[in-house]
Amino acid sequence: PADPTKYRRILLKVSGEVLMGEQGYGIDMKTVDTVAAAIKRAVESGVQMCLVIGGGNIFRGLSKAAGDMDRATADHMGMLATVMNALAMQAALEKIGVQTRVQSALTMNAVAEPYIRRRALRHLEKGRVVIFAAGVGAPFFTTDSGAALRAAEMGCDALLKGTSVDGVYTADPKKDASATRYERLTYQDVLAKDLRVMDASAIAMMRDAGIPIVVFSIRGEGSLRRVLNGEGPFTVIS
Ligand code: UDP
Repeated sequence: PADPTKYRRILLKVSGEVLMGEQGYGIDMKTVDTVAAAIKRAVESGVQMCLVIGGGNIFRGLSKAAGDMDRATADHMGMLATVMNALAMQAALEKIGVQTRVQSALTMNAVAEPYIRRRALRHLEKGRVVIFAAGVGAPFFTTDSGAALRAAEMGCDALLKGTSVDGVYTADPKKDASATRYERLTYQDVLAKDLRVMDASAIAMMRDAGIPIVVFSIRGEGSLRRVLNGEGPFTVIS
């Protein structure tokens, strides 16, 4: 549905950068706690929540590839970074009483459940948060693609992309003061204008599955709740 107040099941993608808070690197547990509290309120309002967390705060494959490492190896390290973030988020959620399961696309049975679609659906039906770690489990992809894939597999009503900017702008608002935010865009607009919201494969997958993408800032109190109440600021891609 186009109306966020009607969402029954959503996938929230949180980029790694958000989790580092004001630090330049790594995991800031205070920020993780803030995001976890927002997720708890969403779960309590009855929304089934899937989560995908990026890894850019720890390791991004592309930035290390081509130097001393081949791309696939660097990407494997990036995927492991997303598992660390997932465990941090699980710890923060369970500390405040939100039952959470981590399912990893790379099997590591001692650490997380393997990704099993039907099992994930069962967790969601029981009101548990499911964190999908390690993206799609293959190099040359990103966690945006992982988020799109899982949103489609889980039959989510929307993919919420929580970033540090409150939507998609005509230019980088941090560099260009005249940049304005788009209220609505089509998938085709994003692809044709090459707006760097998510990678093209993720956009195309959401277009084919007919799942809207809502880009919003997850920084600040109450931002997730506002989006779920249909209140901006955000950009909807549909
Ligand atoms: N990655 C990958 N395959 C995936 C998901 C992630 O190879 O399916 C690697 C890739 O190296 C990527 C890193 O994991 O740079 C961290 O993910 P991402 O850059 O998407 O994190 P974010 O930008 O959301 O913090």
